Amino acid sequence: MAKILIVDDAEFLRVRLNKILDTEGYEVLQAENGSKAVSTYKEARPDVVLMDVTMPEMDGLTALKEIVGFDPKARVIMLTALGQESVVLEAVKSGARDFIVKPFEQDRVMKAIHKLLS
Ligand SMILES: [Mg+2]
Repeated sequence: MAKILIVDDAEFLRVRLNKILDTEGYEVLQAENGSKAVSTYKEARPDVVLMDVTMPEMDGLTALKEIVGFDPKARVIMLTALGQESVVLEAVKSGARDFIVKPFEQDRVMKAIHKLLS
């Protein structure tokens, strides 16, 4: 089964996503900031990354760029907030494959992941 890396500094959100993905049968990894996301990506090579934008230590855009620099085929979905349109634009230019606006429905997350894995 595919491996998904959840990156968000909000623990409740990681827990929520972990539950959803675990129920769907995915192998789930978590990171609470961008720099941990980059090191976990290099180590574990997840199939899909769900990446928050605003995080301490290293933000999601920087982590996205480092991950895509390391693996141009990386599939990264950005988790954005309303009003972060400029971030979305830069993320897409930097290689993000999709973005999901918070708060999101479970169904939206699953569709985005299925699309990238198919
Ligand atoms: Mg955050």
